[in-house]
Amino acid sequence: MIQYVGALDCRVLTDDGKTRRCTVRQVVRKLSRDQRNPVVAGDFAWILPLSDEEGVVERIDPRRSTLSRYNDRKEHIIAANVDQAVIVSSIAQPALKPGLIDRFIVSALKGNTKPIICVNKSDLRGNDDDPEVPDLDALVEGYRRLGYPVVLCSAAQDVGIEELRDLLTGRLTVFAGQSGVGKSSLLNAVQPGLGRLTNDVSDESGKGRHTTRVAELVPLAAGGWVVDTPGIRQFQLWDVSSGELDAYFVEFLPHIPHCKFPNCTHIHESGCAVKQAVVNQAISTHRYESYVRILTDQ
Ligand code: GDP
Ligand code: ZN
Repeated sequence: MIQYVGALDCRVLTDDGKTRRCTVRQVVRKLSRDQRNPVVAGDFAWILPLSDEEGVVERIDPRRSTLSRYNDRKEHIIAANVDQAVIVSSIAQPALKPGLIDRFIVSALKGNTKPIICVNKSDLRGNDDDPEVPDLDALVEGYRRLGYPVVLCSAAQDVGIEELRDLLTGRLTVFAGQSGVGKSSLLNAVQPGLGRLTNDVSDESGKGRHTTRVAELVPLAAGGWVVDTPGIRQFQLWDVSSGELDAYFVEFLPHIPHCKFPNCTHIHESGCAVKQAVVNQAISTHRYESYVRILTDQ
């Protein structure tokens, strides 16, 4: 598996447990549909070993999923075969923003990545006197009903870390979320020493630097990988057209066929089954509001 892709070569972990620096054969670049990303972290590669330390990438398996960054609507694949995104938020400091969680869920689903919601800083519970934040228990229950696992954590007090570690084991995971919610702290708690790899490039180093950094797969002791670089932890995976947005709100799906107009945006149309479902409380108001905000903000 490709662990890291540099400018001239890449680092590949092979079945014999060795890590080899590999160059990429020209034919792999030529066969790649998207020549900008012939090889990305997470790719399964066939290599010709040249020695215990070196080899040549001969072929890349088809990608099951990809994690992309969008720049000017152009896709840049950062990592392949990502299983899940842990969407980290915090109860306070910064305040919980369900709308942001919903945006990240859409982004994850768009990338064929399973969303897991992690609410950190549970030790600060009671500080969330922001009236905009819906009741936490109802929020958690709502996401669970949609099929998204929710973990309540405190990196500071070692709460929920075991559960988080279990969710990560054996899978390839990316952490996403607003700066300051505790992503590095959680990664450190899950595996002491892990965050150390990334803390050297802090937010203070400037946003511009993030965009040039590449993904690195960091192995977890219990098995599995975390896609890491501060750049990936901060940015939003985002390129969803208005026409496809409702498909990423899973609870809308059973209602959409009942809208009067086939191209209903569920905002101003009459006979909208989605809006009716909000009235009937089959769809939560906050989720519907997130949908409207995403559609109208873009
Ligand atoms: P990141 O930007 O998402 O990687 O967030 P950091 O891990 O750097 O954490 C941001 C701040 O929140 C730091 O000051 C942490 O000490 C603090 N922090 C992280 N986790 C917790 C927690 O569970 N409880 C509290 N009270 N503070 C936390
Ligand atoms: Zn509708």
